[in-house]
Amino acid sequence: MLLGPPGQQRWRITQSLIGLGGYLALVLLLWLVSRGEAALLDRARVLPPMLAMGLAGLLGYALMRSGVNRRLALRCGCEPSLTLPQTLVGVLLTTWLYTVTGQARGAVLALLAVVVMFSMFALQRRQALVLAGVALVMLAAVMRAMTLADPFRYRAEVEAVHLGVTALVLIGVTLLSLRMARLRQRLRDQRTALARALEKLSEIATRDELTGLPNRRAMGELLLTETARHARLKAPLSLALIDIDHFKQINDRLGHAAGDAVLRGFAQRIEAELRGADVMARWGGEEFLLLLPGTGAEPALQAVERLRESLRQQPFDRVEPGLRITFSAGVGSCLGQGDIDSAIERADRALYRAKAAGRDRSELA
Ligand code: GH3
Ligand code: MG
Ligand code: MG
Repeated sequence: MLLGPPGQQRWRITQSLIGLGGYLALVLLLWLVSRGEAALLDRARVLPPMLAMGLAGLLGYALMRSGVNRRLALRCGCEPSLTLPQTLVGVLLTTWLYTVTGQARGAVLALLAVVVMFSMFALQRRQALVLAGVALVMLAAVMRAMTLADPFRYRAEVEAVHLGVTALVLIGVTLLSLRMARLRQRLRDQRTALARALEKLSEIATRDELTGLPNRRAMGELLLTETARHARLKAPLSLALIDIDHFKQINDRLGHAAGDAVLRGFAQRIEAELRGADVMARWGGEEFLLLLPGTGAEPALQAVERLRESLRQQPFDRVEPGLRITFSAGVGSCLGQGDIDSAIERADRALYRAKAAGRDRSELA
């Protein structure tokens, strides 16, 4: 009710509630020192700035809780915590409080430092400097006016000491916040670099470097999820083991680099022919595993035959003019997660039969 749904906004709402809590503590404190005959404070004078502070605090909470801050931020391109305007109002009201708290006003300066401190860490470098400058100039102007209006109550020396100490505190806070801003930036940079490295790592872990196809490990995981999904859907799923024919001869005759080019070109040609749901992985050397989800054994065999036919039409002219590659395949269906290993074994035996029968053909497992 009070905080709203979890997330960034909830954190902002919490912040504004913490601010209101601090305000209530201040009210209690001021009330305590304004009791009795010889009270330190004059309640009637303190009341207006305290009421204004309370209203400003409630307004801040209402802005966050209703989400108006986000809309404002979108419209004016500022950050949704509205730190700068909130702090400026805070500084203004605290300075006002300074003028009406008489002998207790020195303590109000600590309050001013807290208001500025809370905002510093959320502000940009330039904003932080401007804020500290505005707070000091405003305070100096108010102090000057006070000493002019009532030089007996507000001695210039006392005000000068107050201003000097406040300046020291604000400079310290500003320097600290600038250092924090640098640290935060470095942290952000590191996080981006880490995210990139992780992405790269996962790419390396799941892709075959030469062909760009999913590697054996990635295919292993895909097989687990897909067989489980298709068992649930009671839909068929087929596998095909594909092995390039006489690949060793290409290496021997044209060199290893030409062999690599053939593997890359082979992967490209087949991938271009595959339907959206079908996935081919490099299973090892010049052997590939094709996964055909939602496809029974017979249609899978026809699909592989189409691949074989299309490969026949596309010679590897860039490797050697007129170079044609053929493959042999073993095709079969897989009956679920527990059947993966034996389905691959069956496909492997069918592949062996295709090789033994003269290559450039597909056999049903
Ligand atoms: P078969 O028709 O019986 O499959 O004969 P084959 O020559 O294709 O089969 P074999 O298993 O005798 O040879 C496969 C060759 O593939 C041997 C190996 O050096 C080569 N090979 C495996 N991986 C790569 C690779 O990444 N790049 C290259 N250029 N060659 C590779
Ligand atoms: Mg081979
Ligand atoms: Mg082989």
